[in-house]
Amino acid sequence: MNIQREYLLENTFGLTSRAQWGCAIEHLTDVVAAQDFSEKNNLSMTCLGSGSNVILQPKLAGLVCSIRIQGINVIEESTDSVLVEVGAGVVWHTLVMESLKRGWFGLENLALIPGSVGAAPVQNIGAYGVEVAQLIVGVNIVDGFRDSRQIKRKDCQFVYRSSIFRSRPDWIIVSVVFRLSKLPAIESSYPELERALKDLPAAEPSAQNVADCVIALRRRKLPDPAEFANVGSFFKNPIVTIEVGSAMQNRGFKIFAHGQEYKLSAAQLIDYAGWKGVRHGDVGCWAQQPLVIVNFGAARCADILSFSKDVANSVFEQYQIQLELEPSLLS
Ligand SMILES: Cc1cc2nc3c(=O)[nH]c(=O)nc-3n(C[C@H](O)[C@H](O)[C@H](O)COP(=O)(O)OP(=O)(O)OC[C@H]3O[C@@H](n4cnc5c(N)ncnc54)[C@H](O)[C@@H]3O)c2cc1C
Repeated sequence: MNIQREYLLENTFGLTSRAQWGCAIEHLTDVVAAQDFSEKNNLSMTCLGSGSNVILQPKLAGLVCSIRIQGINVIEESTDSVLVEVGAGVVWHTLVMESLKRGWFGLENLALIPGSVGAAPVQNIGAYGVEVAQLIVGVNIVDGFRDSRQIKRKDCQFVYRSSIFRSRPDWIIVSVVFRLSKLPAIESSYPELERALKDLPAAEPSAQNVADCVIALRRRKLPDPAEFANVGSFFKNPIVTIEVGSAMQNRGFKIFAHGQEYKLSAAQLIDYAGWKGVRHGDVGCWAQQPLVIVNFGAARCADILSFSKDVANSVFEQYQIQLELEPSLLS
């Protein structure tokens, strides 16, 4: 394994950022070698997948490890389900497509989410009515003491866009174990998806139909990071008390049941606060989905943070709702 100085970091926000030290981790043995290096040189260690949910400062201290561990391996198979271990470096969308090809179902609503399998449990990725936590059996990690172990789903503390992994940067996720069904069970409760499926000629939509509709919906609404650099949703949808939710509903906002609380749409708050399609220099809110902040060219990390602060302050001033960053800010 080659550990390099001034390591250039990949990310989908178009930010130029170099780590003090960096390396690609392709095998389990590389993990321990990287841990030895960081300990010997007294460096902090950070993992990175595809950089599609991070805001990178121009310089990152310590050792940054790009996780590239591959492999989709069946552990156990029965007539109705399969237990599969997937390397943290596998591209998420590749796993979704490969699962459909092999007749494994459950991941189709999460098609086209950028990023790696290892990052999926970190923020409990979710879209179109499904969260990845529903399909995870356990997450295999190497901890700061070099112990390899599996964190079972019940111990992952999965909640909306978060998990225990957000607060354990010393844990390196090396693979994720999923239980996938061999019997298709279509999840179409998300209204936009339900409508798209109803427009299809097939009476009973297949899992492939679901993936195709999700891909089409996402392409229509979200900017492709290869063309317009972004990290997807910039803020989490705020979770509020029943009282606050009801008051917001009276002011014309959508509310969604979320356990004993309500979830608001951050996109709607940003839109109503007047930021949809607004651009300052090279940073702006995407016109079709204002929750996505785009780097239209040469914006720097500081420009993006300053713009996002203005958006959040404006929402707070108008609605007294505090927006919280969804991506991790790495420095
Ligand atoms: C256009 C677009 C659309 C998006 N849509 C969605 C969506 O619908 N739903 C959704 O939930 N997200 C969405 N996202 C966000 C993003 O795709 C996910 O968060 C994805 O899981 C990030 O994967 P990554 O490999 O790029 O992670 P990175 O950005 O590289 O890392 C994210 C975090 O995970 C940590 N991490 C990464 N790999 C590991 C590892 N192996 N071990 C330990 N920690 C690790 C990093 O330190 C960092 O804190 C979108 C992003 C974009 C650009």
